[in-house]
Amino acid sequence: MTQHNDTSVPMEPYGAYVDGVWLSGAGQTRQVVDPRTELPIAEVTEASAEQVSAAVAAASAAGPSWAATTVADRADALRAVAAQLRKDADELKHLVCRELGAPEALAEKLHVALPATVLDATAEAAAEIAWKRRVGNSSVELEPVGVVAAVTPWNYPLHQPVAKVAGALMAGCTMVLKPAEQSALTGLGLARAIERAGVPAGVFNLVLGGPEAGEALVSDRRVDMVSFTGSTEVGQKIAAQVVARCGRVALELGGKSPSVVLDDVSESRLDAAVKVTLANCFLNSGQTCTAWTRLLVPRSMLGRVEELLARYLARHVPGMTMGPLIDRRQADRVEEYVAEAVKQGARVMRDETAEARRPESGYYVTPTVLLDVDPTSRVAQEEIFGPVLSVIAYGDEREAVEIANGTPYGLAACVWSDDEERATSVARRIRSGQVDVNGGRFNPLAPFGGFKSSGIGRELGVYGVEDFCELKSIQY
Ligand code: NAD
Repeated sequence: MTQHNDTSVPMEPYGAYVDGVWLSGAGQTRQVVDPRTELPIAEVTEASAEQVSAAVAAASAAGPSWAATTVADRADALRAVAAQLRKDADELKHLVCRELGAPEALAEKLHVALPATVLDATAEAAAEIAWKRRVGNSSVELEPVGVVAAVTPWNYPLHQPVAKVAGALMAGCTMVLKPAEQSALTGLGLARAIERAGVPAGVFNLVLGGPEAGEALVSDRRVDMVSFTGSTEVGQKIAAQVVARCGRVALELGGKSPSVVLDDVSESRLDAAVKVTLANCFLNSGQTCTAWTRLLVPRSMLGRVEELLARYLARHVPGMTMGPLIDRRQADRVEEYVAEAVKQGARVMRDETAEARRPESGYYVTPTVLLDVDPTSRVAQEEIFGPVLSVIAYGDEREAVEIANGTPYGLAACVWSDDEERATSVARRIRSGQVDVNGGRFNPLAPFGGFKSSGIGRELGVYGVEDFCELKSIQY
């Protein structure tokens, strides 16, 4: 890895961390670009296919001794990694800001703080797992699935790998992580924290690279389970390959999540619903798989909702409160979706001041609300992965649920009502892995994952550990 422009990006010529040893990459060289400046900040020489294979061999060799450790020892290891992430917080924050373009406050409070919380929560949850249960004349026992290949995207460059590290290592699995090529430096930062925390050699291994390294990793027959987070398209391709060899697969994929305002909301609840939905949709520049990208409102409330949207939209300013998108291709793609929606009759709401203040360089997109959106149109059906909220009107509750469920996805949702029982009943009819009632807080102990095209399996807490286990029955 050679460095450009910014002396504060650490220079370490590594493309892989295998069996406790840092290796110079022997694969292709790729630039890492700062999406705020559009300038390269580093050049990473990635892992070769042979280095990917060596990483799987190291994870395989370390498997039996890691599986033989106690639950308490593994929980301690997770807590040690969490503590190290907190120690390395400044360095990691810097990397996330440079690679993702995230504003500092977001990088600190969300990107860097959340993974440490997840590790601690998983260590705590491990004590509640029924590792061994008597069922009639059987002892039903959880065993680690074996060698895990983790493939992750760039949008939460620490949280996504850590959700897999926490579950897999706690279960007693060993692993090879291939983070996204766009966030390779943060991947190195995480591996350094894991090394510094004293996790034994071979238990956690890292290979840097793009789709080629990912393919080499997931097609290795010594990999027992692939845990993938990313696009539905790539996830489906990987799943077909892994299932064909009867391997295990977990998929955390895309979403098109609804925020449903019911017709009983008071003025203050409606205000909160609009404000929080906008903030949720625009979080991380709209590059969040669970983002509530469709605001479903009773037709009679449309006028008031529009007023509130105009007021709160002004709070989201590119270059200040909001970072850029990851690359030019993604920024152009978002603008194309907006243009297509307009052709199909949607009205665009953008804050003029935000538009005027948008930095000249960087892959910024002005936060956008689309009004009068047809729920069957492309913009309301497909994941845009940018700061675009579609407002959709409905007649009655039955229609609201039908629209909420009317996409291929089922990752997240929110229901707003002054009647919690009614909101809960609607939440139960929404086909998605998580539903927040009146903006309920993220819970690192609750299972995270999707219905339908949003994925297979669950991460986090007890459920996220059990997903990395096989069940064995021993009869007496
Ligand atoms: P992507 O699918 O293009 O890439 C994700 C990862 O897969 C990267 O590491 C990439 O190098 C690797 N990869 C690409 N092709 C591969 C192949 N053929 N074989 C093996 N590995 C391969 O996704 P992206 O564009 O980087 O990320 C955005 C997507 O991730 C969005 O669709 C978003 O919804 C999804 N996502 C889902 C969740 C979730 O938890 N459900 C969380 C975050 C992001």
